[in-house]
Amino acid sequence: MAIVNRRRYKRLHAALRRAAAKEKPALSEQNTTVAAPGLAETLWKGAKLTCPRCGEGKLFSSYLKRKDACDACGESFLGLDADDGPAWLTIGIVAHIVIPLLWLLERDGSLSYGTEFAILAAVTIGATLLTLPFAKGLFIAALWRIRRDGR
Ligand SMILES: [Zn+2]
Repeated sequence: MAIVNRRRYKRLHAALRRAAAKEKPALSEQNTTVAAPGLAETLWKGAKLTCPRCGEGKLFSSYLKRKDACDACGESFLGLDADDGPAWLTIGIVAHIVIPLLWLLERDGSLSYGTEFAILAAVTIGATLLTLPFAKGLFIAALWRIRRDGR
């Protein structure tokens, strides 16, 4: 009885291993099958917060925390630290939204300074929080591309 169960277990285990191998190839096989993307595609993948190499794995484990490696293709993200680049880009983008809005509010002149301040502060904070992860993804993708090309 125990021998039959052991054989059945081995067959089931082998079938499960074959099924798992069909679903997802080994990490080393995946690395060789992913074609190198072009610059625009790389940046687009980063801006979408996905792996700049394969575009499938997520780039961040939380709001702005970069993962160490891609879950899909295994590409390492270690050393791809964007530092102040995303903040610089975010300030540039948000300023182009807030300054024209300030100009429009001042031109109209119907709102009090307190109301204008509340609107501008809300827009500034909201636009910053929305833009920052995408800017960081873009910078990490650019750094990944530079590292890949060895420049
Ligand atoms: Zn990947």
